[in-house]
Amino acid sequence: MARHRGGGDLVRLLMTLLLAATPLLAPVAAELEEAEVVPTAPPQVASSSLARGADEGLDDVPADVRCASWRLAAEANNLAPWKAVPAECAAHVRAYLTGAAYRSDLELVARESAAYARAAPLGGDGRDAWIFDIDETLLSNLPYYADHGYGLELFDHLEFDKWVERGEAPAIPSSLKLYMEVLELGFKAILLTGRSEGHRGVTVDNLNKHGFHDWDKLILRTAADRKKTATIYKSEKRKEIEAEGYRILGNSGDQWSDLLGSSMSARSFKLPNPMYYIP
Ligand SMILES: [Mg+2]
Repeated sequence: MARHRGGGDLVRLLMTLLLAATPLLAPVAAELEEAEVVPTAPPQVASSSLARGADEGLDDVPADVRCASWRLAAEANNLAPWKAVPAECAAHVRAYLTGAAYRSDLELVARESAAYARAAPLGGDGRDAWIFDIDETLLSNLPYYADHGYGLELFDHLEFDKWVERGEAPAIPSSLKLYMEVLELGFKAILLTGRSEGHRGVTVDNLNKHGFHDWDKLILRTAADRKKTATIYKSEKRKEIEAEGYRILGNSGDQWSDLLGSSMSARSFKLPNPMYYIP
């Protein structure tokens, strides 16, 4: 248990550093916006970092510690693109998600988001926007991932779509609280999701059933967006949102691809998710 708490501390430390550093990104975002370019990283070969650690004499480091390092690197966007949780870390990730640490991490991000929202300089003209991703940000797919190894299995689009179509994803309680608070403060909520337009109806029903109402926009992927990375798709949509006169002051997402690119929010908040990676 102590080792799990240690891993949680590392992630919380990272979150704190990230929150402190985010304002420094604003000038960079402005430059990118001017250039109207979404920077793309050069291709990187997925690494088997845990196995490599053994080659480098790190085999005396307990597996749980190596897996805490893996999870921190995943959250910090330091890993090469990864497709599944390393087999060695399946138990570690499951314990994190089903214990107190994941909930605590989510609550900390929500608290910091709310503190920023309360202090944000609102224009009060109905154009102050907060963007929310949906999956693993407002709604939780943990019941699905519990049946699929919590990220140990390769992602199966067809199986996941069946889950989405059931419309039974529960709310993340801390995110629902944040959502209600930013609306109360006068932000317009804009939901920007990688879900497809064909899932609009079930997504609306699922959100409403668990307390999410009164968003200004719900943006889903159309057929034209299908082949775009999430970073490109979401950057393009943020640009359209800005062109409509919104000021994007906050953005909450569990993937870096929800947050990075162009037309970035004044502040971005990364929720934890060690189960999958979306470029
Ligand atoms: Mg998500």
